[in-house]
Amino acid sequence: MKVLVCGGAGYIGSICNEYLIDHGHQTVVFDSLILGHAEAIDPRTSEFIQGDLADRDLLTKTMVNGKFDAIMHFAAFSLVGESMKDPGKYFRNNLANGINLADAAVAGNVKVIVFSSTAATFGEPEEIPIRETTRQQPINPYGESKLCFEKVLHWYQQIHGLRYVALRYFNAAGASANYGEHHINETHLIPLVLQVAQGKREKIMIYGDDYETPDGTCIRDYIHIIDLAQAHMLAMSAPNCGHYNLGTGNGLSVKEIIESARRVTGHAIPSEISPRRAGDPPRLIACSDLAKKELGWKPQFEDADTIIESVWKWMKKHPNGYNA
Ligand code: UDP
Repeated sequence: MKVLVCGGAGYIGSICNEYLIDHGHQTVVFDSLILGHAEAIDPRTSEFIQGDLADRDLLTKTMVNGKFDAIMHFAAFSLVGESMKDPGKYFRNNLANGINLADAAVAGNVKVIVFSSTAATFGEPEEIPIRETTRQQPINPYGESKLCFEKVLHWYQQIHGLRYVALRYFNAAGASANYGEHHINETHLIPLVLQVAQGKREKIMIYGDDYETPDGTCIRDYIHIIDLAQAHMLAMSAPNCGHYNLGTGNGLSVKEIIESARRVTGHAIPSEISPRRAGDPPRLIACSDLAKKELGWKPQFEDADTIIESVWKWMKKHPNGYNA
């Protein structure tokens, strides 16, 4: 298939793009490079268009000329903490600019859009594990902006016949051999923990140890990026619309992640307890049975040490990420 990968220079987008190419698809990457990295696109395998989702004309032109079968939409802001300080940034980009993309998809007669949604759409869930039927009640603007866009896609399907699949990732983690996670202001747990092992940080701050969890720290469901990539490819070719929760079903606490990183790196990784971070729910764990049943999804890298090892390998090869 011919696929437009929006946000294909970012962490998740670049690895999904690589996975699509490795599985025989043709891709064009569309990315503003505000957060993405040109080095995360291989010019030998993907055409690249530098553009922003705010640019309706460029999006329409790209879509009408490109004759794409599918769009993968990764281009979004995704930091819970930042969204609690600047909600407008999140609704403008993740919702309003997303609508530009959906309109362009209709104009270009694209058949399907696979959307990067998130566990943050569930807020503090009423049940664990979280199913597709669990009530979605976001507790931060990031999650709300993603939920709003899921609803936009529902109406575009109803009115314009644009098929969509919303994939609600839990905590994307891990790296491929060639591409990894490099954020300009890193806020994510696993890369920060490993930066301590690299000697770039003195210690890791644990945001709260007074949650109602066995060790008091927040529990998340860390899912390997290559397993996410597999789900995207399957979703693109599935016959129907759908919403799927993607995780391993195993929750790991902040302290357990730090322990795993200590095992993988052999570094002591000092830590310090600090206050809770605004907008953090205590426990997010997925039930992914539906994705397994309907998409035929078979995650392969479910254990924490394997995930962290893949990141550590990438960091050893790229100690400064994409900076030379
Ligand atoms: N976290 C932490 N220290 C850090 C970064 C994150 O204790 O330096 C915690 C955070 O509060 C959350 C978990 O680690 O409970 C995962 O956070 P991350 O930002 O990686 O992903 P999120 O769950 O926010 O998408």
